[in-house]
Amino acid sequence: MVIKPMIRSNICMNAHPVGLAREVRKQIDYVKERGSIPGPTRVLVIGGSAGYGLASRIVAAWGCGAATVNVAYEKPASGTRTATVGWYNTEYLEDQARADGLDVSTVYGDAFSDEVKDQTISLLRETGGVDLVVYSLAAPVRTDPRTGETYRSALKPVGEPFTARTIDTMTGEFRTVSAEPATEEEIHSTVKVMGGEDWELWIDRLLEEELLLPGAMSVAYSYIGPELVKRVYREGSIGKAKEHLEATAKELSRRLESVGGAAYVSVNKAVVTRASSVIPVVPLYGVILFRVMKEKGLHEGPIEQVYRLFADRLYTGGSVPVDEEGRIRIDDWEMRDDVQQRVSELFETVDDSNLREFTDIDEYHREFLRIHGFGVEGVDYDADVEP
Ligand code: NAD
Repeated sequence: MVIKPMIRSNICMNAHPVGLAREVRKQIDYVKERGSIPGPTRVLVIGGSAGYGLASRIVAAWGCGAATVNVAYEKPASGTRTATVGWYNTEYLEDQARADGLDVSTVYGDAFSDEVKDQTISLLRETGGVDLVVYSLAAPVRTDPRTGETYRSALKPVGEPFTARTIDTMTGEFRTVSAEPATEEEIHSTVKVMGGEDWELWIDRLLEEELLLPGAMSVAYSYIGPELVKRVYREGSIGKAKEHLEATAKELSRRLESVGGAAYVSVNKAVVTRASSVIPVVPLYGVILFRVMKEKGLHEGPIEQVYRLFADRLYTGGSVPVDEEGRIRIDDWEMRDDVQQRVSELFETVDDSNLREFTDIDEYHREFLRIHGFGVEGVDYDADVEP
């Protein structure tokens, strides 16, 4: 079958196996080139099939030589539908890992469910406990296993309505977006989906089962971002969920003392992933940020971020450096004063006449296609491929 991108409402509905294999290969090669990190030996990555979770798995495996277990919600191909992005990423990664003598396994299914936790626990009972748990889920919906109730997350401001200019990264058209404030129920639901409750259930289960090795750490990912996106991100419904995630880290750290371990939230930089492309306003900030960080030689994607997180924060051999709130800051380059000042200036002046001069919109769009396996250099997109 010849596979071309199918994009509906800025969401890419399909994936290209050959392009994704090359993209995963690039990440593996990056880590091999950077060299080894004396890190964990056995790692559980919850949400390890795409974006930050995939990068974490690659750094753990090829950077630290760790055995990795991945939990992800992905589907194989069926009929004329391609598999999902994360399914291709995972299958290719595991082929390559086995060829390199690395131990890998995946549990496909809903990480929020008791069934998938049970399956993962059984697997770990056979293979051994873990010394790092990476929690990297980005999900729109969660069913609470204790009540059976389903919650949907919302990406809305809190308090006042919000109007701002943004850009459609597919068409390059400026648009004004408005959003009504989230209701109390929507805020509560977003916290239920993207807050720390499920992370806590995972860590409690692993502790109970004595599957956390001495010194075991856990890390979950968060975002803060600048003033420009504050109303919709950090002060919005998703920000409330991230506050909950950060408070959970403190509680989990106390519980992990029993194995001599700790839990952290790492605040990462804005990158192009399937999850980030649906957040309002962030695209205009993103296309400018990319340009500015590239100009300053500071550009990073998930793999560069996670490599730095392991090498310069989590596994330096000393204590883990954190900010005054106890968070790891690997968004330090994004938040640098000179970067943010330049981004703010461009944000105010960018329009149709200077779009390609002040932003990196074309590359941002290409990156969006590449994370679905399209537009990858060297791939023949007219060739027949087995999905
Ligand atoms: P992503 O969409 O690339 O990956 C999400 C992962 O979650 C995939 O592996 C997917 O299979 C898995 N997943 C989703 N629902 C699941 C379910 N029910 N059960 C099992 N697996 C499920 O997302 P991402 O952007 O890498 O986000 C990961 C984390 O990083 C999130 O907490 C996000 O807030 C954070 N983060 C993202 C950015 C960014 O710019 N993308 C920046 C900072 C922090």
